[in-house]
Amino acid sequence: MNEKITPRKVEKLLAVKGMNDILPPESARWEALEERVRELMRRFAYENVRTPIVEPTALFVRGLGEVTDIVEKEMYSFDDRLNGEALTLRPENTAGVVRAAIEHTLLYNGPKRLYYMGPMFRHERPQRGRYRQFHQIGAEALGFSGGEIDAELILMAHALWQELGLTDVALQLNSLGQPDERQQHRAALIQHFEAHHDLLDEEAKRRLHLNPLRLLDSKNPAMQAVIEAAPRLLDFLGEASKRHLQSVTDVLDACGVAYSINPRLVRGMDYYNLTVFEFVTTKLGSQGTICAGGRYDYLFEQVGGKPTPAVGWAIGMERVLELLKEQGTADSGPAPDAYAIVPDAAFLSTVMVCLQALRAQGVSVQMHASSAEGMASMKSQFKRADASGAAYALVFGADEMAQGQVTVKALRDAGIAQLSHALSCAAEWAKSLQSNA
Ligand code: ATP
Ligand code: MG
Repeated sequence: MNEKITPRKVEKLLAVKGMNDILPPESARWEALEERVRELMRRFAYENVRTPIVEPTALFVRGLGEVTDIVEKEMYSFDDRLNGEALTLRPENTAGVVRAAIEHTLLYNGPKRLYYMGPMFRHERPQRGRYRQFHQIGAEALGFSGGEIDAELILMAHALWQELGLTDVALQLNSLGQPDERQQHRAALIQHFEAHHDLLDEEAKRRLHLNPLRLLDSKNPAMQAVIEAAPRLLDFLGEASKRHLQSVTDVLDACGVAYSINPRLVRGMDYYNLTVFEFVTTKLGSQGTICAGGRYDYLFEQVGGKPTPAVGWAIGMERVLELLKEQGTADSGPAPDAYAIVPDAAFLSTVMVCLQALRAQGVSVQMHASSAEGMASMKSQFKRADASGAAYALVFGADEMAQGQVTVKALRDAGIAQLSHALSCAAEWAKSLQSNA
């Protein structure tokens, strides 16, 4: 039955707060960034990996650490209604990639360089550069222990900024050392913060004995002075850890990549050791970190695998695109090469045969479509053609059709003004329509 729906009764449905639709022309900028990333990954020989968006909750609890912002308050977790499994929308993808590598013994014949792009989910307060569904580009080098791979990853992100024309991006570097060094530092940290207990906020007090390193990551402005005065992990590093950091900076120095050592830099997840780094810009307010990463040599064991050294980073795509816009270097969306103007609906099949031949040659064509009333007037079709940004209008008028021809009209200051071509040999003149051929 075709029941009538009364519009007033139907409530308008909106997207979930903090989760955004990415629409044209904006979506073209996303595609352009994704293209660049694929090309970059190809040059650095990183292979694509695609893991599920939903993972067992335990993967993140064990992988990221229980006393972390993500696990304590940011995860979208739910029980599967059918079998009660505890599941979580991935808040990040390093744990998922490691899970997949273990599950499929991906490293059976040697280390792997992998990358991914896709949505992540965190229940945060939405604001500029911080959303509940956001997108990351991630690169993970699994099974590598040498500092040169940490450097390779940093060089790769650096190359992306250069190719995008991003300036005002600074690299900060630190070492979190090894677990035994952290243990000593932890004791000193607890002592320091206990001595200034009255300056701590409630969260810091609660975390002090659970995971004191997290206090260094606090964004509470009132605590920055006491954090600044805290003992530095760098001062607790042994020879091997220092050498590792040196091996990273040696490569960066040789390649002319500027960095600063930030002894306060800790990352939001527990899985990091040795090298940690962030690329930060001052142009995006307090959401200025566009890429963050580091080494995670203990994560494989943490989620049930064999000890495997690894290092990786993740880039926040929204923030990179925002920064591109901020700098005015954002690409404008693509326009079709040609717009097909069809005055009479009776010609549509013939026109579409011709357009298929053009597209097979790589030409992008947008065709004026019919409405319930038939085809619009030539005048309004030309208006649409102009608005599409196309370089050429293809006019399939009655005179043209009678002669088996199409007229090509330049809409902008393209080379030719007006030319006639035979419909039957579109492949031959197709190339003349392509702006970037
Ligand atoms: P922040 O300190 O800004 O919360 P984070 O340390 O939680 O960042 P990571 O987990 O290291 O971030 O994620 C890597 C990158 O992903 C960040 O540097 C940022 O660019 C981006 N990112 C993280 N959370 C969000 C979010 N909620 N919305 C948009 N981008 C995000
Ligand atoms: Mg965060």
